[in-house]
Amino acid sequence: MRPFAYVRAKTTEEALTAGRGERVRYLAGGTNLVDLMRIGVEEPAVVVDITALPLAAIEPTRDGLRIGALARNTEVAWHPEVVSHFPALALALRSGASPQLRNMATVGGNLLQRTRCPYFRDGASPCNKRAPGSGCAAWDGYNRSHAILGGGPRCIATHPSDMCVALAALDARVLVRGPAGERAIPLTDFHLAPVDRPEIETALAPGELVTHVELPHAPWAARSTYVKVRDRASFAFALASAAVGLQVEGGTIRAARVAIGGATTKPWRSHEAESALLGKPPSADAFRAAAAAAVEGAVARAHNAFKVELVRRTVVRALETAGGLT
Ligand code: SF4
Repeated sequence: MRPFAYVRAKTTEEALTAGRGERVRYLAGGTNLVDLMRIGVEEPAVVVDITALPLAAIEPTRDGLRIGALARNTEVAWHPEVVSHFPALALALRSGASPQLRNMATVGGNLLQRTRCPYFRDGASPCNKRAPGSGCAAWDGYNRSHAILGGGPRCIATHPSDMCVALAALDARVLVRGPAGERAIPLTDFHLAPVDRPEIETALAPGELVTHVELPHAPWAARSTYVKVRDRASFAFALASAAVGLQVEGGTIRAARVAIGGATTKPWRSHEAESALLGKPPSADAFRAAAAAAVEGAVARAHNAFKVELVRRTVVRALETAGGLT
């Protein structure tokens, strides 16, 4: 591990001041950053410890819920407001990592966690995300775990988060503070697909700090769910996942949210699937049509073609659950 300066910020202002400059990283739970520092993929010059900042609260707002960036994944997953009003988020968080990691990992860190593409982590293979311009070893390499939506020859790394897929379906907003002040970024715009610049992964400007995530109440959010398919039942990243929410009135779908993960380069909101559901009864036919729409435009490589059908089935299963068909 390369030597680095360590700063412990006591206030958000102190953190923002220390966050100015090149190669600065904010440290919260450390479950991803420290890992990557140990293997030499992350080499910050300055690490700003933000764990003392007052950003861990989970608070109801006038029209939803505000979650501090330092709230631990476990606390969010079992919080009564989350369980009651945003079940997809609770299920997504409980399906991620292991209990020990969920006890340490924070909401902000979960948003910013980096891909588990093995070529990204090995430190030697060509990888446009780790070494811009060097190429993508996964494109013609072993790509079973890689994305079928949102990528291209420069990068097909999947986004690893379960939580973010649920947040994409739930119309979440990410609140950030930085040198230019405060702003809110829709979750669906927060992560960037690695089409042109794989090394730029989020819409955060230099020095900006994630402070909160906000969720709006909605009937479809209260009737949401998350389905994750993986190689083993615990402590594994998704091969495919789906977060969905449905609002059904008088036997007709009035509102729908569909987001996909595990096979996508970023938390992937499928407006095509949502459009296919509107005005339909919550039926197996409608759910299959929506799932087919969700994978339109998918591009498979040598080892991940199975994900096209897997995503389709995962979306159907999630819609059946949210729609009360299972
Ligand atoms: Fe690197 Fe992305 Fe290619 Fe993986 S898929 S090797 S992260 S450029």
